[in-house]
Amino acid sequence: MKVYADNAATTRVSRTALHAMLPYFDELYGNPSSLHSVGQRAAEALYEARETIAKCLGAEPREIYFTSGGSESDNQAIISAAEAGQRKNKKHIISTAIEHHAVMNTLKKLERQGFEVTFLDVPENGIITPEAVAEAIRPDTALVTVMYANNEIGTIQPIAEIGAICRERGVIFHSDAVQAAGHIDINVVRDNVDMLSISSHKFRGPKGVGALYVRRGVPLSRLIEGGEQERGRRPGTENIPGIVGMAAALYESCEYMNVVAPKIAAMRDRLIEGLSKIPHSILNGDPKRRLPGNVNFCFEGIEGEAIVLLLDEYGIQASSGSACASGSLDPSHVLIAIGRPHEIAHGSLRLTLSEENTQEEVDYILEKVPQVVEHLRNMSPVWRDLVEGKREYVIQ
Ligand SMILES: *Cc1c(COP(=O)(O)O)cnc(C)c1O
Repeated sequence: MKVYADNAATTRVSRTALHAMLPYFDELYGNPSSLHSVGQRAAEALYEARETIAKCLGAEPREIYFTSGGSESDNQAIISAAEAGQRKNKKHIISTAIEHHAVMNTLKKLERQGFEVTFLDVPENGIITPEAVAEAIRPDTALVTVMYANNEIGTIQPIAEIGAICRERGVIFHSDAVQAAGHIDINVVRDNVDMLSISSHKFRGPKGVGALYVRRGVPLSRLIEGGEQERGRRPGTENIPGIVGMAAALYESCEYMNVVAPKIAAMRDRLIEGLSKIPHSILNGDPKRRLPGNVNFCFEGIEGEAIVLLLDEYGIQASSGSACASGSLDPSHVLIAIGRPHEIAHGSLRLTLSEENTQEEVDYILEKVPQVVEHLRNMSPVWRDLVEGKREYVIQ
C-alpha cells in the first residue's frame, strides 16, 4: 500500500487546479502587461485569480500581492514592517519561538541589523496567550508576527485576539498562515491581521507561488527592483499558470472545507488514539486545537529519521520534525520550545493527512507504526539501557 501522509511538506495538485492551469501554459500564454488581446486574456485571468483569493480570505482584490511562495511573503511582510518601524525609530519586534524558518531567519537577520526581537516562550500545548503578546508590546514595538498554525505540531494560535490587541496598540500584525489557509477558516477582517502569508502548494495548488495580503494603508516595501507589476511592490512577469492554479485550489479548499475538514479530523483522531497506545510515546501539541490533518508524536529511545526511512519501505511517507530541518542534526526548535528534552525531540514522527487519505490507510499506518517503533527499539542501545533501568524514561 502507498500512503502519502506528508501533506504539511507539500500536497498533490488537485485535478481542479491542474485543469485550470493547463490553458495558461498553452494557448493562453500572454504577458498581462501586453496591450494586445493575447496579453489582455492573461490580465483578465490575473484579475479573476486576485478576486477569488481575496474573497476566500475576506480581503479586497487590491490587498492581495502575488509572490513566489510562503517564504517570500514572510520575508516581504516582515522586512516591510521593520523598515516602516525604523522610519519612526521603532526597532522592536515580537514573535514566537516556534515560527517557520522563513520567519525565524528573517528576524535573525534583522537582529544583526540592530533590531531587537522578543521570541515569546510557548507552553507545552504549543499555544501562546494573547496576554503574553500584550505584555511584550512596548512603545517602540514595530511588528508582531505570529504564525496562524504550526507546521510541525499543528497547533492553532488565537490570531483574532492577538490581532485585536495589536490593532488597539497601533502595532502592525503579520501572520504566517501558510499551514492554515485552505485548511481552517481564515478571515483577515475578523482576525484583525494587517499582513498574512499563504503558499499555494500547501493547499493543493502548484509550487513556487504564494500571496501576501496587505491591509489597505499598511506600508509595503519591495524587495527586488524591476517593473510595475503588483502595483510596483513585486516586480517581475506574473506566474499566470501558477496564480490561476493557486486561486482554483484555494477556492476549492474553502468551498468544501466544512465537509472535508471533519473527515480529515476524524482520521487524525483515530491515529492519535491508536498511536497513544504505544508505550512511552507522547503526542506533541494540543490534542484538539490543532490542524485537522496533523499528528505528531515523540517515541522514546529511537530516532525520527529511522522511523521515517523504515516507514517509507512499507510505502508510508511521513516526516520527522520539519522537512526543512532534516539533513541537520539539530532537533526541531519547535519540540525544544514546547519543552521536549533533546533525547526525545530526536524521536519525533509527523503524519499529515489530506482528503486523499482513506480509513484503510489509517488502519495500515496504525498497523505499521507500532511495528516499526518496536523493531527500532529492539536494535537501540538507548532503549536497552531504559529497559534495564540504567537510564530513566523521559516519557512515562
Ligand atoms: C511551507 C511553509 C512556509 C514556506 O512556504 P514556501 O512556499 O515553501 O516557501 C512558510 N511557513 C510555513 C508555516 C510553512 O509551512
